[in-house]
Amino acid sequence: MPRIGIIGGSGVYGVFTPREKRRIETPYGKPSGDVEIGEISGVEVAFIPRHGKGHRIPPHKVNYRANIYALKMLKVERVIGITAVGSLRKEYRPGDIVIPDQYIDFTKKREYTFYDGPKVAHISMADPFCPELRRIFIEVSREKEYYLGYKTHDRGTYVCIEGPRFSTRAESMMFRQFAHIIGMTLVPEVQLAREMEMCYVNVSTITDYDVWAEKPVTTEEVMRVMKANEEKVKAILNEAIPRIPEERHCPCKDALKGAVV
Ligand SMILES: [Zn+2]
Repeated sequence: MPRIGIIGGSGVYGVFTPREKRRIETPYGKPSGDVEIGEISGVEVAFIPRHGKGHRIPPHKVNYRANIYALKMLKVERVIGITAVGSLRKEYRPGDIVIPDQYIDFTKKREYTFYDGPKVAHISMADPFCPELRRIFIEVSREKEYYLGYKTHDRGTYVCIEGPRFSTRAESMMFRQFAHIIGMTLVPEVQLAREMEMCYVNVSTITDYDVWAEKPVTTEEVMRVMKANEEKVKAILNEAIPRIPEERHCPCKDALKGAVV
């Protein structure tokens, strides 16, 4: 049984050859696609393509609850969320890797919780990411940066917007006062994982500067950066996954203690 789950985009394809694909039905509906099960560096993992096969599901239509619940059904305890983001700060350059420590939720209409009543839970999100996984991913990302030519940011606030449109100039200027990177998929994935008492870490790859920078980029340039970023993510996953210990030494497994009303 896989203890580690990966939710990511097309960039993660090819990092492992799935041994099997499972069609899973959850009480919240279908996950984005068949759950692929295989090994990365000899460790059993489950992978869900967040936007489905062929990238057909936009960020606001992803069934985040079904994705997390499907992993829970497979007994996954740790979730690695891979996302592509825009940069809100000059020093967070396209091609860099960010392991965020905070986020701001600017989404508008998603399914945010497994606790819609009669059972009510208010989980803490003060420190939204698993400290143990963050430490491992920062360490590995730093080891790889010299060879792959990028910088690792061990902190950063991810602002999650509803999409699918990009920000206005005014929004981008506002967001950059408080956040470092901007994307459309972290929320509610991260908080649903916590409600399931799973560990969650986010690995964000920067594709371009957001609109505040007034630096229009071509699709070709974005595609080139994304391709290079895929290689970085693969290298990091290959190295980080075997370093994740069997036992969890973090508060994530007790997230519901004192949270259920
Ligand atoms: Zn944890």
